[in-house]
Amino acid sequence: MKKFELTTEQKINWFGRTLYRIKACISFTTTSGDEVKAGDLGGFVEKESNLSHDGKAWVWGNAKVCGDAKVWGNAEVWGNAEVWGNAKVWGNAKVCGDAKVCGDASVFSTEHIFCVTPIGEYANSLTLFRTKHLEIKISFEIDVYTVDQFLKIIDGWCDDKQKSVAIAAIELAYKHIDLTPTSDDLKPCPFCGGKAEYNADSDVVVCTKCYASADKKIWNSRVDD
Ligand SMILES: [Zn+2]
Repeated sequence: MKKFELTTEQKINWFGRTLYRIKACISFTTTSGDEVKAGDLGGFVEKESNLSHDGKAWVWGNAKVCGDAKVWGNAEVWGNAEVWGNAKVWGNAKVCGDAKVCGDASVFSTEHIFCVTPIGEYANSLTLFRTKHLEIKISFEIDVYTVDQFLKIIDGWCDDKQKSVAIAAIELAYKHIDLTPTSDDLKPCPFCGGKAEYNADSDVVVCTKCYASADKKIWNSRVDD
């Protein structure tokens, strides 16, 4: 059964892509306790595959999901939030406000995203999120950066105060964002293809088949990355 359909009367052009406002086909209650009634309008998606027909995931208001991004599970995207690229948003993740989640984001908890608004010369929002490679990436204006790249570009910012706020936001994000791997994140064993498991006591990832092991920070690194 379809959870939603794309409406054609309310479509927008967004950076060259056509996004369609969604309309609920069934009634359900999201895990935040908000009711979606059949016929209610939601936010914008580019195609049906951006939002799962299963589960209680929903896109609200003016939020936008496009590209190869996928939202499923109990996740909710609302406000003016934008999710694009290969971003994956699921679990109990909530993406709200002016947050922008993109690239290889892997966000499935409220502890996987941190957003600071307003920041910088043009009062933009700075979104820091967890990636599938278990690192923090930063989405700012229309670009996405690693923390190192971002620290280099803010060196050029004219205002020392804005710069120090951005650096403090990155420090806070490292406190807030949980980079602990789960079995969903771990790539199969590079030696035997076996399933990998994470041992929180030792911070080590172990193959359940050949018992090859590596630190959680490097398990997912592959030569072709
Ligand atoms: Zn193995």
